[in-house]
Amino acid sequence: MKKFNRSIFIILFCCLGRVEGASNLLAFKSITELESGNLKVVFTLEQVALLNSYALDDPSRIVIDIKNVSLRNPIAASKISPIRLIRASEINDNVRIVIDLKGSVFWKKPWQVKHKDRVDLILEIKRDKAMDKNLRDIIVAIDAGHGGKDPGAVGKNLLEKDVTLLIAKELERTLRDTDGYRPVMIRPDNRFVALDDRYQNARKLGADLFVSIHADAFRLSSVKGSSVYVWSEEASSITAENLSKTEMTKNPEVGSKIGKLDVRDFDEDAARTIYQIAYEAKITNSTILAEKIIQQMKRDPFTKMHKPGVEFADFRVLKSIDIPSVLIESGFISNPDDAKRLEGKAGRRMIARSIFLGIHNYFKEKPKPNTFMTDSPKNIEYQIQKGDVISEIAIRFGVTIDEIILWNNLNNKSIYPGQKIKIFI
Ligand SMILES: [Zn+2]
Repeated sequence: MKKFNRSIFIILFCCLGRVEGASNLLAFKSITELESGNLKVVFTLEQVALLNSYALDDPSRIVIDIKNVSLRNPIAASKISPIRLIRASEINDNVRIVIDLKGSVFWKKPWQVKHKDRVDLILEIKRDKAMDKNLRDIIVAIDAGHGGKDPGAVGKNLLEKDVTLLIAKELERTLRDTDGYRPVMIRPDNRFVALDDRYQNARKLGADLFVSIHADAFRLSSVKGSSVYVWSEEASSITAENLSKTEMTKNPEVGSKIGKLDVRDFDEDAARTIYQIAYEAKITNSTILAEKIIQQMKRDPFTKMHKPGVEFADFRVLKSIDIPSVLIESGFISNPDDAKRLEGKAGRRMIARSIFLGIHNYFKEKPKPNTFMTDSPKNIEYQIQKGDVISEIAIRFGVTIDEIILWNNLNNKSIYPGQKIKIFI
């Protein structure tokens, strides 16, 4: 692909301009102080854009680079502590926003909210005098496969859409209660979400990672086990090819949605050609993430692997150009052993645990700047919830009860909601 000639490049670039809209204009909208004490800064765009955001210290500032946009007018914002100044400049077809700050802040990665007439680009910050550098949470998009009118694979007593939602909720809970992570649910309940909306919503939510959870069925009930997939136009095996085909035909919206994206959405297909380096990095990182999840699945005594290595298939939901994305087939609900495993909470919890530990190990290898993983922490901090028991927490994180007691000096002591405990993983 590196050798493609100039004329193709120009044609593709023109297409992107037309589809994505080179006229995507950015303007400053407002700064408001929220009840939470956070400052909310809002910009407007005409369409969803490709963003890259990061914070720098000394002097403290947050930078948002926005691709393929221009400024509607010069940005002039009023100063509200801890914001010293908001400035913006055009660099080629991109805009760089710099928010100069007084001291360090906890910031939420910018996200985009689509309205009828515009897209709001939102950033929230909070001054924290205890922090010596700017920090944000790692955002994990959890995509429970199928939902609503689309049941996915249908087993004897089991629908794929129910299994995927229950695993997704397990994973959500673990991420929510672990410091430094923030889960976002692409499908929070039994609703229908079209495939294109799934990765589009992950982009709008500013996701650092995207995991799509599935459970398949096959005409031969002997076929069993889990697999982890990364996007590729060419399937790596016959199973992969069959699976991506069934996933497509199972979802009634897929065929009709292709090529009919809302113009205010971001065109991943066109962008893939233009931002080739970002796309190649995404595939590499997705493969690392898939390997980390598979490593954990192999530790799980209940889950058998259908394929021992990373599989590649044309799953549309994975096609974001820059968000590492994997699809997990947690098992075949057409197989009696797998169905039994996925019907029970314990079996589903093990899948969620493998995904969580896989994600955590991924960030150990690929630490995100400005997050708690940057300084390679030796442990995580988990906040005890009402109803938690140590034995369950131990299962959730793949450690033993004795280890949790030892690490936290819990001998003869009870745990209480709100308490933070250290878990070395
Ligand atoms: Zn599925």
